[in-house]
Amino acid sequence: KLLDKLNREGDNRITQKLFDKIDTGQIDNNLRILTGKPRLAGTENNRESGDFVHRRFLQYGLLSETIDYNVTLSYPDKTADNYVSVIEEDGTETFKTVAIVEGDEVQPYNAFSPSGNVMGNLVFVNYARESDFQKLKSMNLSCSGTIVIAKYGKGFRGNKVKNAYEAGAVGIILYSDPGDYSPSGTNSTYPNTVFLPNDGAQRGNIVLNKGDQSTPGYPAKEYSYRLREHELNSRLPKIPCLPISFSNAYSLLSLMTGDQVPDEWKGSLNITYRIGPGLTNKRKINLKVSNTLEYRRIFNVIGKIKGELEPDRYVMLGNHRDAWVYGSIDPMSGTIVMMETARVFGQLLKEGWRPRRSVLFCSWDAEEFGLVGSFEWVEDNSKWLTSQAVAYINVDSAVSGNDTIHLKTVPLLQKVFEDASDKVPDPYGKYNSVYEAWSSHPRLYKMGGGSDHVPFLAGLGIPSMYPKYSYLKDIWDSTSTPLYHSRYENYHAFKMIDPELKFAKTMTSIISESIRNLADSRIIPFDIDRYLEYISNAVEELLNHFGQVVGPKMEEWIHRSVNAFHVSAARLKSIIAAINNDNDDPLYARQVNDKLLWLERTFLIGEGLPGNSMYKHLLHSPDSANYYGGVTFPGLGGITQCIDIQNTTECHMEIHKHVAKIIQRIFDASKTLDS
Ligand code: GLU
Ligand code: CA
Ligand code: ZN
Ligand code: ZN
Repeated sequence: KLLDKLNREGDNRITQKLFDKIDTGQIDNNLRILTGKPRLAGTENNRESGDFVHRRFLQYGLLSETIDYNVTLSYPDKTADNYVSVIEEDGTETFKTVAIVEGDEVQPYNAFSPSGNVMGNLVFVNYARESDFQKLKSMNLSCSGTIVIAKYGKGFRGNKVKNAYEAGAVGIILYSDPGDYSPSGTNSTYPNTVFLPNDGAQRGNIVLNKGDQSTPGYPAKEYSYRLREHELNSRLPKIPCLPISFSNAYSLLSLMTGDQVPDEWKGSLNITYRIGPGLTNKRKINLKVSNTLEYRRIFNVIGKIKGELEPDRYVMLGNHRDAWVYGSIDPMSGTIVMMETARVFGQLLKEGWRPRRSVLFCSWDAEEFGLVGSFEWVEDNSKWLTSQAVAYINVDSAVSGNDTIHLKTVPLLQKVFEDASDKVPDPYGKYNSVYEAWSSHPRLYKMGGGSDHVPFLAGLGIPSMYPKYSYLKDIWDSTSTPLYHSRYENYHAFKMIDPELKFAKTMTSIISESIRNLADSRIIPFDIDRYLEYISNAVEELLNHFGQVVGPKMEEWIHRSVNAFHVSAARLKSIIAAINNDNDDPLYARQVNDKLLWLERTFLIGEGLPGNSMYKHLLHSPDSANYYGGVTFPGLGGITQCIDIQNTTECHMEIHKHVAKIIQRIFDASKTLDS
């Protein structure tokens, strides 16, 4: 009987049972409670939401545990100044930005910006990308000693601050241009639409090193070594940064002098956009930022279902719980999906079913401060996670829009999404399934950075995926939802996107079936063919760009490694087919599963990528130029730039060094499958 159980294939009738139990009333109730107050990490309101999730997990019939860490967070100093002002030639202050907040809402600020009081000429730098600063340079415009103003969007804000600093700026102001965040015009905004009103501002951290800033590499426990002040400061951004609304930005930008900006830099404010430097009548800009670093306690909640046959193999579902303000979309639209998934699994447990493997439901704290809760937990559990974690699914902001699914995934998990979404009806009823709707115009992206999958995938090589209902508009592929990190992203705003919680329900179906498949299938449902295809394309791309540099010998080795991977994959696939057909030895299945489990790990390099050693994955780490994005070989990102700009022997050596590592790891992948 035990053998029979060990070998049984996951039961497909379970899928329908899970779907039937999803209840939008329960989802709505959780959303209302979670968005009832601002849920800023490190505050009492967020400890309370942690208690709430913990109690819910227990009530749903899961095991649950709250795990706390003491970490360094960053808050505005309420007793000191945070504003931008205009200073006349005679020294009088004639304009000062204002930010609107009520009750417990934290004022708009950029976490981990240093405090500062700087004065200078203003320069408009578009989105403050590397390419924008190159353009300024080609126009002979220096940012040295100036304060720059940049639009939000098209990349992670922390990269903007770094680029501005490297261009010599002494301060940076970030604002949301209505061209990006209120595309239907400034009369059509919240509360009537989900577009950003003129006084809304996007908060957000600007750090490029993730996790608790004081304890890199190790969990923030009582016994941990914490960086001294100078060590800590060397990791943090160097120039003050403040986010403002577009009504405030209008007052600054309309005073600017200098040439008009290139057409493609214009936003949609009713002004003539000028580059600067400076304002009319010799006015200057004064930027004052007052932030403090504070030790605060944060709370992760981990709900658990113990697997029946392989309790020592873990499938994980996670999202953060902390929000900049009410966070109805970010993160709560995902938290309600995760909680409802936990609830329906709990219901099936009560009916006597249990998945083959264990499942963890993870509610992270302090993601908004740089993935702090998830990083600390991963640092605290890295060894057993490395050998026992099967996959991590991230559901941050799972319902960000209502048009189509944007899928970020590693190749190994794409089929898990496809198979699950094929079992779920299209909420618009236009296609037979969500999969058919999605594949009619697939929106598929590399994992990159920006949420809690980073420590799992880029740190430990645990395959991850991150699906989201989103908007079709291409602009939001690279920007965000318009109300993102503003005080208007509240319950009401969410209900304009998903009034009947149809999309929350659809996401819950896709997620619960993905978890069931990963946790209950006898052979882990990883798609090796997709990985092969990905690697083959990736090395083609590499050779197109660097073929000249690496030369024919290296090129030959690259092809040899890819061929070896192909041969081993084919061998493993025939073993899997045989197991599925007639081999019922459970130990044999476990051997195959372990090869699959280790495959993603083989692409890690212990020393980490050039540029940021905390990212270890050769393929699925964040892009160094835009931390939100993913690129084919993230470690070559910085090097690519060096070859484009200065084609030196030193650059060529760096490329050789990195490509040699890539070749070795492709051979390692082949050996992992053969072992
Ligand atoms: N999701 C948050 C943001 O984009 C935090 C991301 C991070 O620090 O990695 O601001
Ligand atoms: Ca740490
Ligand atoms: Zn989020
Ligand atoms: Zn966020």
